[in-house]
Amino acid sequence: MTEGIDRRIAEMLHHRNAGLTKGDPVALPMVTSTSYHLPDVQGAPFIYARNGTPTWAAVEAQLALLEAAEVVGFPSGMGAISAALMATLKAGDRVILPADGYYVTRVFAREFLAGLGVQVTEIATLDYAAADFAGAAVVYLETPSNPGLDLIDIADVAARAHAAGARVIADNTTMTPLLQRPLDLGADLVVAADTKAPGGHSDALFGHVAGRDAALMARVRDWRRLSGSVPGAMEAWLIHRGLETLEVRLSRMCASAAVIAARLAEHPAVQAIRFPGLANDPSHELARRQMADFGFLIGMTLKDATAAEAFLARADFMVRATSFGATHTSGERRARWGDAVPEGFLRLSIGVEPVEALWADMAAALG
Ligand SMILES: *Cc1c(COP(=O)(O)O)cnc(C)c1O
Repeated sequence: MTEGIDRRIAEMLHHRNAGLTKGDPVALPMVTSTSYHLPDVQGAPFIYARNGTPTWAAVEAQLALLEAAEVVGFPSGMGAISAALMATLKAGDRVILPADGYYVTRVFAREFLAGLGVQVTEIATLDYAAADFAGAAVVYLETPSNPGLDLIDIADVAARAHAAGARVIADNTTMTPLLQRPLDLGADLVVAADTKAPGGHSDALFGHVAGRDAALMARVRDWRRLSGSVPGAMEAWLIHRGLETLEVRLSRMCASAAVIAARLAEHPAVQAIRFPGLANDPSHELARRQMADFGFLIGMTLKDATAAEAFLARADFMVRATSFGATHTSGERRARWGDAVPEGFLRLSIGVEPVEALWADMAAALG
């Protein structure tokens, strides 16, 4: 990680410090009040909780330091994604989406945006490199793709999209602002599910939109206030707490993923492995240029569905769940959702367990 981001992480950990007066709580209080003392309306920082609350403001301040951008918080990743799309698209516009990206984003586009007169075009992640963006209003990308772990060159796509007159929205969920910086590479908006690694404990849904164009961010903020897509106080508070340990958790998760991916690649029971950190992975060169680390997700293909399910059942240190980015390692056979992957393909999300204990368990479960 660069010196710049290290400084911002330290500032994030101390963001409340400067404003404290004697006797104030050091930890963030969770404010559940829906209304705010308003003897008159001018100059009040908070008015009514659909517009903003002190707890959202605190987590948005943390994320703004990490993103080096304005941030608006949402009640989920999809809350943030739908807000970014509603703020940038209108009838007659065309949006380009990854055909192999997060499934729910595509369903939202097909089921709701198309009905409002937006043309929805899906292209494969690997086809972004040669795609013609002429006539698009929004080029939406997600890199690495999930679960395939193919990469998109953000700077290249942003330059070509801008030349075609399109805006660029990047889903940065799998990387977080600590590992990948789409805004620095030219994206107009970042969207992310903080439900994953930033929260990190599988107990809160949250999302955010980040951007450096004040007018565009004002529109995103208006969408939140007018649609009522607002985070809960408890969730905002939990994400604030999670963000404080994000960097230490990610360091462990990425380091362990690198160790485990290299060993899985050598294991006779493993037919194929995708991890951008492996020197022979098709994503490796671009990952080295674009990402600060290679992440904590591994795509592993075993012989068939039976072998994959048996591995998950035998492993003691493997949660069988559909999310990722948490403290505990988890694994899922993605074909059960209809992803275009082999029947024996597992997405593994490496957690913070001591790596040798985790590997011993995985090796035993592979048999
Ligand atoms: C989980 C996820 C989302 C949606 O986040 P929610 O908080 O579940 O709404 C969006 N994009 C990606 C890449 C995700 O993994």
